[in-house]
Amino acid sequence: MRYAIFGDIHANLEALDAVLNDAAENGCNGYVCLGDIVGYNANPSECLEKVKELGCAVIKGNHDEDCIRENPMKDTNPIAREAQRWTYEQLSPEQREWLKDLRYVRQVFDFTIVHSSLDQPQQMHYIINKFDAMASMAYQFTRLCFIAHTHIPQIYTKTDVVEPFEGSEIVLENGVKYLVNPGSVGQPRDGDWRASYAIFDLRSGTISLRRVEYDIATAQQKIKEAGLPDFLAQRLAEGV
Ligand code: ZN
Repeated sequence: MRYAIFGDIHANLEALDAVLNDAAENGCNGYVCLGDIVGYNANPSECLEKVKELGCAVIKGNHDEDCIRENPMKDTNPIAREAQRWTYEQLSPEQREWLKDLRYVRQVFDFTIVHSSLDQPQQMHYIINKFDAMASMAYQFTRLCFIAHTHIPQIYTKTDVVEPFEGSEIVLENGVKYLVNPGSVGQPRDGDWRASYAIFDLRSGTISLRRVEYDIATAQQKIKEAGLPDFLAQRLAEGV
């Protein structure tokens, strides 16, 4: 089994298509979605249908949770709030229901998936350092857990933090716990505009990080045409 592990799609259909094509070309036969299918960009409904069609394991992200509310959370920043309102309108009642039913944590084969962290998954904490990672690992009962939420590819063990780059591959060692963030498909924030995801090969026990170019001009054009904040189009090019 070769899993494509991807999350933080954020309604960027061009990026999602590019990732799914790349995964197929690289022999992936399993898919796992780490949440935040919707929010920010212009194709929430299309991205949701595409993920649904894969029939893969999916967990709930904070935007999936927020965009099915008629009124967003109070502490949401104004740009996210505008996108949230717009997204809510785009989703059908069935699609909102589908998002609502997603779980926060799941186990797939012998690994765990959660959007934020395993300690208080519903609080949507960000794992940005070793201490956050250790708090999550205290609740990690599989050797491997995939997370998302920060939009930055990172691999944590109890002793190390690695920032994986395109093509970098780690071989899982026995007896070591891993917390792996494959970065974001639809809104990377590590300064590289290309869509980010990981391939986990079960047989060889390796995880490789992939960066994929996509039709960013079309994604940006759609954001403008939808009347979403301009900044959302700009940030895609900057990878922030
Ligand atoms: Zn996100």
